[in-house]
Amino acid sequence: MSIEISGLDFRNYLHALYQNRSRQARFQGRTPEDFTAWEPEARARLLDLLGTAHLEISPLDVRTLGEEDRGSYLFRKIAYRTLPGLYVPAYLLLPKNASRPMPAVLCPHGHGWGKDHVMLEEECYHRYPHYLAEAGFCALVPDHISFGERANPDEGYRGCSFEHEALSLLGSSVIGYRMWDIQRALDVLESLPEVDKSRIGCAGLSLGGEMTLYLSACDTRVKAACIAGFLTSFKGTFLKEPHCTCGYIHGMARDFEHADIASLIAPRPLLIQSGSLDPSFLESDARKAYAEILSLYRLLGKEERVCLDIFEGGHEFHVSTALAWFQKWLS
Ligand SMILES: [Zn+2]
Repeated sequence: MSIEISGLDFRNYLHALYQNRSRQARFQGRTPEDFTAWEPEARARLLDLLGTAHLEISPLDVRTLGEEDRGSYLFRKIAYRTLPGLYVPAYLLLPKNASRPMPAVLCPHGHGWGKDHVMLEEECYHRYPHYLAEAGFCALVPDHISFGERANPDEGYRGCSFEHEALSLLGSSVIGYRMWDIQRALDVLESLPEVDKSRIGCAGLSLGGEMTLYLSACDTRVKAACIAGFLTSFKGTFLKEPHCTCGYIHGMARDFEHADIASLIAPRPLLIQSGSLDPSFLESDARKAYAEILSLYRLLGKEERVCLDIFEGGHEFHVSTALAWFQKWLS
């Protein structure tokens, strides 16, 4: 026989901790001037949390590894250097008949099997880089650390956790390193004579949406963004149930919620996609985040530049509205 005691569920404490200690660096101003003053400080804080300040840019080295004619576009396999001795493999889709210089969209993938996964029609990405290329956008689809050709083949190293834990131990984050890599992907796009560097966007689903969020917040070279199946809140996702370890960046939710990070994209065009049947990144949380972001865009007088696309679907990319969004803002 024993007496029951309450207070054993640590999740209750975590909930209270979130209520009391989260979002300490969020925008709390009331005027556009307040936002202008907050923005550089918040961006510097975000970069500090991502842990890539010690990295130095290597001279860009882009190599072509192969090319196929896919009808309306060239499908090129490339690799580019991001750090000394490190190269990232990627697919580059170059429309053949688009007027040049053309707009471009960077397409970071989510969890799964890397850049090949994104190119499959029946998968959650629905092959969106292909449709972007058919619509006249150059598309670049790189492999992240831990995926595709960069996945560690050894059994004990599969997934993100080894790279995440190792980089955490060294004071950084695998998300930060992935962002560094896709910043170099922007360098690649800017280096292409076919691409108009003033019209580069970014679009991704899930981890790809997360990377689009961080990249667009940190790097203003992204002129329009589409975040699918991610932008909700840490409270409603990573702090509510276990997700992949790579998204747990030391101190991030203490300083910023999803909506706070997205605030750093303002006033650049931002499309948020949420499938009404997505079981993890809920429509209700996407609506709450959108309401906060919309109030900032309104404050800046750019309400038309942010849009929430709720569609009937699961954890997947909604190709048609993303295409329309980039055609509106980058064409
Ligand atoms: Zn992960």
